Amino acid sequence: MNEATIGACAHPPGGPSAIPAPPAFADLGLSPSLCEALAARGYDRPTPIQAQAIPHLLEGRDLLGIAQTGTGKTAAFALPMLARLGAEGRRPTAGHPRALVLTPTRELAAQIAASFEAYGIRTGLRGTVVFGGVGKGPQVTALRRGVDVLVATPGRLLDLMAQRHVNLSRVGIFVLDEADRMLDMGFLPDVRRVVAALPAARQSMLFSATMPPPIAGLAQGLLRDPVRVAVTPPGSTVERVDQQVCFVDKQGKRDLLARILSNPAIGRALVFTRTKHGADKVARHLTQAGVRTAALHGNKTQGARERALDSFRAGTLRALVATDIAARGLDVPGITHVINYDLPNVPESYVHRIGRTARAGRAGVAISFCDETERTYLRDIQRELRREIPASREYGGPAPASLASAPRPAPSRRPGPRYRPQRRPARAPAAARARR
Ligand code: AMP
Repeated sequence: MNEATIGACAHPPGGPSAIPAPPAFADLGLSPSLCEALAARGYDRPTPIQAQAIPHLLEGRDLLGIAQTGTGKTAAFALPMLARLGAEGRRPTAGHPRALVLTPTRELAAQIAASFEAYGIRTGLRGTVVFGGVGKGPQVTALRRGVDVLVATPGRLLDLMAQRHVNLSRVGIFVLDEADRMLDMGFLPDVRRVVAALPAARQSMLFSATMPPPIAGLAQGLLRDPVRVAVTPPGSTVERVDQQVCFVDKQGKRDLLARILSNPAIGRALVFTRTKHGADKVARHLTQAGVRTAALHGNKTQGARERALDSFRAGTLRALVATDIAARGLDVPGITHVINYDLPNVPESYVHRIGRTARAGRAGVAISFCDETERTYLRDIQRELRREIPASREYGGPAPASLASAPRPAPSRRPGPRYRPQRRPARAPAAARARR
């Protein structure tokens, strides 16, 4: 049951006089059994956020992590959690988890729970995941058996708390993941209710890609003397993506998409639409055009979402048509193309979207459709990227004159394209949010 003692320190070959190599996981203070689980997953070296955060977290410090999915943040919090829970050598009691990870979407919750399972395979610690859209029965049964780590989305967790299936009074480690996304999705009041049910004596971590004032305020109330770690996603991710824009009429988008996907060089394409309804329509059209496709959005049942993702991961589906909310943080290897059927009205979403391709050092292509009503969005995105996105030679005509005469992107203060997290605009009106 107990995690083996933490500590053995492996030095890189070459001794102290050699050029310092990046640390190994064991250098960070992680136990051999955790290191073995990481090696089995092919993790050779910690990512920057892991190298910076893990030693402090093992000491029990609170942490403010400015980082988004893709940086390796899940392992950055999961590994020290497993190490500390294992070292305590206590068993969980029914309905009283020892650690809680709160994350905004079901997909992220499932991904995080799977990571805990993989990393903690040799620790004997128990975990479970709870989220809405599926029956409560199995979740209640798992909680009753007792879990060390509970991964949850806020709504379902509050439900289970209200029904006394779970009690947070023994949570010694708490992680609030994707805090800015919680804010966007209107979950902050729920998050506050969860935090209010936690004991005062605990270790806390908050991860957020950006730090708008409400999140900074939340962090202040949640964290005690936190270590602050900020990492940008590997800058090269966005740089490695071959970005193109197709200027097209609204009515011409469907045929253009089918034409692009008729190219056999496109292996696996993630297509983004702005609305759920739009995702369904585009998926239907692609299916009729003979492309194996599914739609992924918040109105789909959990089962349908999981089936779509599994088939896309397995390569049975060639295209997945998704809204931003559903695709947030998805880690699907081998996406060769991201296609923005609709341009996002928040530039940051563009960066998130195109970051779904060019994963793990691979190249990727991002093709964005821009109709006459979306030109302001394109300008905002270019300003954010500090570069112009070239018009696609293969699939579209030249940039319209009205865009060419538009204000040029702000001059670059730094060399090269660079993603800079920035404050989001005010939340979209409720009606617009409901449509996503
Ligand atoms: P995350 O930011 O936690 O969603 O992780 C992004 C991806 O990086 C996931 O596919 C992880 O499995 C992978 N990953 C995390 N840490 C490492 C590491 N140290 N070495 C290699 N891959 C990693």
